[in-house]
Amino acid sequence: MTGTRTGLTLAAVAGKVKRTLMDTNTEIQPIEPTSPCTCCGACCAYYRCSFYWAEADCAPGGTVPTALTEKLNDFRQAMRGMSGSNPRCIALEGEIGKSVRCTIYDLRSSVCRDFAVAWENGVPNERCDKARLAWGLVPLTPPASPPPAAAGGQPSAEAPTSSQM
Ligand code: SF4
Ligand code: SF4
Repeated sequence: MTGTRTGLTLAAVAGKVKRTLMDTNTEIQPIEPTSPCTCCGACCAYYRCSFYWAEADCAPGGTVPTALTEKLNDFRQAMRGMSGSNPRCIALEGEIGKSVRCTIYDLRSSVCRDFAVAWENGVPNERCDKARLAWGLVPLTPPASPPPAAAGGQPSAEAPTSSQM
C-alpha cells in the first residue's frame, strides 16, 4: 500500500504523474488564480494531510499518487514530507508566502479539498489563520460590507474583495 511500489524515486514518480496527466491532456490545474492560496501554501506546510487509505491510487477509484504517500496505520495514509519537525507536503511546489501550487491538485485527497480558505462563502477558518500566522502571514480578513447605495439606488463604489496578506 505504501512506498515506491515501482522502485522509482519519488522525484521520478512525481515527474511520471505529471507527464502522464499531460500525455492524456488532463492539465494539472493550479489553485484558482484569484485565490489567496496561490501566494500562501501555509497549511500545506503546517498540518499533516492524512486520509483514508483507499483515496490513494493503489485502491480502485483512488486518485492520490500512492508513491507520494506514507502509511500511518492500517486505515490511513499521509502525504510524504509532513511527519518531521518541518512539515511540507511533497506535492507542494513553490515558495510559501510568495507563489505556490499543488502539483497533484486534481488528484488531491478529500482532506485537502475540504480545507476551506478563510472567509470562503463568508465563513472564517481558524486553522487557515493559524497556519498563516505560523508562517508570518497575516490572517485573511472578511470582505468589507457593500457600501450603502448612493442616491438613485446605485452602489457608490465597487465592494472590495477579501485582502490577501
Ligand atoms: S493557509 Fe489558508 S490561505 Fe493559506 S493556502 Fe491554506 S487555505 Fe489557503
Ligand atoms: S496534496 Fe496539495 S493541497 Fe494537499 S497538502 Fe499537499 S500540496 Fe497541499
